[in-house]
Amino acid sequence: MQLQFLVADDMEINRTLMWKILKPFGKVDFAHDGAQVVEAWQTSQQKKQPYDLIFLDLMMPVMDGQAALKKIRDLEQEADIDTGHQVKVAIVTSLGDWDNALESFKKGIEEYITKPLDREKITQLLRDLNLIEN
Ligand SMILES: [Mg+2]
Repeated sequence: MQLQFLVADDMEINRTLMWKILKPFGKVDFAHDGAQVVEAWQTSQQKKQPYDLIFLDLMMPVMDGQAALKKIRDLEQEADIDTGHQVKVAIVTSLGDWDNALESFKKGIEEYITKPLDREKITQLLRDLNLIEN
């Protein structure tokens, strides 16, 4: 089965790296800022093609990752999407501090990954979430 990913990062080098890691498993969409993340999520809802996982950078222009995550969770609540059916989000960030991690987990995320990115961390997460087989 082809998985659907959304990779949100303002730096092209990070998007390219994530694409290389994820492309064997499915389709990868990209967002460069938080507003695009919300927009992509809304489009996926309208098309009834939900993302299996969103990889969300925190430091992005226009709207940062925390704000984008909050917006999506608010919209899910408005749409009566229960917590079990919320879109899965993994934070991928260079901000390794507790405040940001705690803030993210409170909003409901699967994992908080600190950069540098590496293939093993990402594929392990996909296994942990049962998106790919062992
Ligand atoms: Mg960034």
